[in-house]
Amino acid sequence: MSKRKAEVAGAGFAGLVAATTLAQKGWDVTLHEKDTELRPLGAGIVLWHNSLQVLKAIGAYDRLLPHTMVPPFYETRMHNVTQSLEDFDGLHWRTMTRKALHDALVDTAREAGVEIRVSSEVDAADPAGSLTLTSGEVRHADLIVGADGVNSKVRDSIGFEQERTRSKDGVTRLIVPRCKEELGGGEAWDNVIDFWNLEPRVLRVLYVPCNEDELYIALMAPIEDKEGSAVPINYDVWVESHPYLAPVLREAAKISGRYDGYQTNVLKEWSNGSVALVGDSAHAMCPALAQGAGTAMANAYSMAVAASEGGDDMAKVLVDWQAREREVTDRCQNKSAWFAETRSMANGNQFTPEVLEAAKYDPTTVVHA
Ligand SMILES: Cc1cc2nc3c(=O)[nH]c(=O)nc-3n(C[C@H](O)[C@H](O)[C@H](O)COP(=O)(O)OP(=O)(O)OC[C@H]3O[C@@H](n4cnc5c(N)ncnc54)[C@H](O)[C@@H]3O)c2cc1C
Repeated sequence: MSKRKAEVAGAGFAGLVAATTLAQKGWDVTLHEKDTELRPLGAGIVLWHNSLQVLKAIGAYDRLLPHTMVPPFYETRMHNVTQSLEDFDGLHWRTMTRKALHDALVDTAREAGVEIRVSSEVDAADPAGSLTLTSGEVRHADLIVGADGVNSKVRDSIGFEQERTRSKDGVTRLIVPRCKEELGGGEAWDNVIDFWNLEPRVLRVLYVPCNEDELYIALMAPIEDKEGSAVPINYDVWVESHPYLAPVLREAAKISGRYDGYQTNVLKEWSNGSVALVGDSAHAMCPALAQGAGTAMANAYSMAVAASEGGDDMAKVLVDWQAREREVTDRCQNKSAWFAETRSMANGNQFTPEVLEAAKYDPTTVVHA
């Protein structure tokens, strides 16, 4: 029997997981990345049980593990005073650089036999089962996957009904040296620390150790704050607000960086005919709960399993897949938008069992047949 064929748009975390899972289940898979090289956008990342289970299922976990860290606590501080120390009752979570995660996923995809094409930009998709590249080439397949991010051309060329909202804050994400001793040393600097200042101006630093040497910092400022959102970061503004982080901020100010806003993107449907949308193209969310990539990888994995095991009617298989999977993601997206709007993460102790629902979800145990 000839292999079923899948065309995947976008080599981000969602596209790489979907492509790898399909290839491992016997599909002939081509993955199109518009960039001239394979690289992630952003700096560091926090992953939880849902996506870590996916990484185990596709065989990427062991190659990633040495480049990750489990911080003792998620600490929230207001004006440098600890509000809470959360350990999520033993729930599995890890921090890492995006590069480490992306490299592990690319290696796993290649090992599975995915054909990865760079400088291959997708222009449009057809629910009947084709993908058109900007080169003019038309590629036909049994399954088309739109994993081309929040500005998805696969989605917009088909005209999925959607609601998009932009957040009032944005963030500059950087990798800098740990600077643990310069910061004063001690175990507290192994925590993820969410440093909030709401007065006299809103400036937040999310401090995320990724390994022994590398620290991910996300500097959040309102879009309307021109000084707070400037890149390279305005050292004087940031150090006045967070003086205890001076060594780290000094390193951050040396990097050109980029300031990104974030959006919430809610679609009525995640599929149309043979086209499935996964990741930010389907459900971009504010990063408050660190679940955008987690849910992207969970849904990309479950879509690929469903397409492989759910039967021959691809349109129905994809409708059934989203009916099973999307409620958890929808609720996570709503909560993330609420936290971003109210900035109430600053109060600490926000990771209640309800808030951790998506993080705890295990897509590898769901039966799709
Ligand atoms: C500040 C911030 C912090 C975050 N922190 C976390 C976190 O800690 N944990 C977490 O789980 N999530 C986090 N997220 C969310 C996470 O980054 C995203 O949800 C996730 O990266 C989405 O992955 P994706 O593969 O769907 O999309 P993307 O990462 O956007 O990948 C899309 C890929 O498609 C390519 N592409 C685009 N258009 C085309 C085209 N036309 N043809 C071909 N290729 C194309 C792009 O070049 C890119 O490689 C954060 C987000 C932000 C903004």
